[in-house]
Amino acid sequence: MQTMDSYDFSGKKALVRVDLNVPQDANGRVTDDTRARAILPTVNKILNDGGSAILMSHLGRPKGKVNPGMSLKPIGDHLSGLLGKPVIFASDCVGPDAKAKAAALKPGEVLLLENLRFHPEEEAGDEAFSKTLSELGDVYVNDAFGTAHRAHASTTVIAKFFPNDKLFGHLMQAEIDSVGKVLGAPQRPMTAIVGGSKVSSKIDVLQNLIGKCDELIIGGGMANTFVKARGGHTGASLVEDDLLDTARDIIKAAAAKGVKLHIPTDAVVADAFAETANTDQCAADAVPDGWMALDIGPKSIDAFRAAILRSKTLLWNGPMGVFEMKPFQQGTVAIAQAVAEATSKGAFSLVGGGDSVAAVNQFGLADKISYVSTGGGAMLEYLEGKVLPGIAAVQG
Ligand code: AMP
Repeated sequence: MQTMDSYDFSGKKALVRVDLNVPQDANGRVTDDTRARAILPTVNKILNDGGSAILMSHLGRPKGKVNPGMSLKPIGDHLSGLLGKPVIFASDCVGPDAKAKAAALKPGEVLLLENLRFHPEEEAGDEAFSKTLSELGDVYVNDAFGTAHRAHASTTVIAKFFPNDKLFGHLMQAEIDSVGKVLGAPQRPMTAIVGGSKVSSKIDVLQNLIGKCDELIIGGGMANTFVKARGGHTGASLVEDDLLDTARDIIKAAAAKGVKLHIPTDAVVADAFAETANTDQCAADAVPDGWMALDIGPKSIDAFRAAILRSKTLLWNGPMGVFEMKPFQQGTVAIAQAVAEATSKGAFSLVGGGDSVAAVNQFGLADKISYVSTGGGAMLEYLEGKVLPGIAAVQG
């Protein structure tokens, strides 16, 4: 397989699927350019080799219709500032303007195509549309990990038109390598920390991880379902009663595989789901009626911390409590600090799949983690053990 390092882009027009789906304010200004910065290594490698880059991306959910409010034009202007060079813009991703501008592109130049999702064919994975897009470039690079779980035209179907010239960009490769370090042949002990609101959205992740990790820490709202499944009293906490049997199955599967399971033993409880609620601490299995567990308590923090610090590989997905509210932040802060500390002692740590990424960013700890994933839903599906179509299409 070709790699970014081995491929010579000299004289080539590289058609690069990137993720420029960045947050914007009401005036279209970019409010967080993390995703735009993340593609720079790939774009710069292509340009430095003497190639040119044709960038394609989606932005928002225009649902197959042209929507001027979701134009990539302002993102192109922002990207131009990051690259320190003009970014030529094509007013449509296919058609005469894109064709002419791609044909005229010279080595060292960058062309950005308008929002792919202005065409319904993109999300439908339409073959003819994929072929038309493919005709703009000589080589296909997929650097959009965030959409790798979607079999769209630009993320998956297009790859077949480049049988010998398709590869992953630097960002995508880093995501794949990081998951490999955690789920492939991890340094042991390997500990997975799974939190977030609901068991229902993480069942497949938990089941997949039980076959891979040595210790499994469960926190967040989803832990309440496990506490109740073991006979605990959970008061007004968020519990999925229809998943009590599933939780029991996961507990049994962990025991059968020799995975040490950590479920919170104490909790920070509140009499309302609000920052201003009255708070208290109690045993996780003795939450008073009318009160709800919104964070893990100090004993759970100590136990989870100890497990994290004895690990050589760490995977963290989902917060330990309602970290958006200050009174219920401590568990997530403590776990983030423990993961950072273990990393500084040589463990490999991957934080990915949603709100735990927001948490490490919010607490200023992202640079103390080995790898912070950029792809929420894609990372979650990857952790479920699924083959992501965008990855399979380039590898196949
Ligand atoms: P998820 O999107 O499933 O990863 O869940 C993230 C959300 O879970 C965050 O918005 C948290 O506020 C929420 N959460 C974490 N712990 C709890 C809890 N104990 N009760 C209710 N919601 C929680």
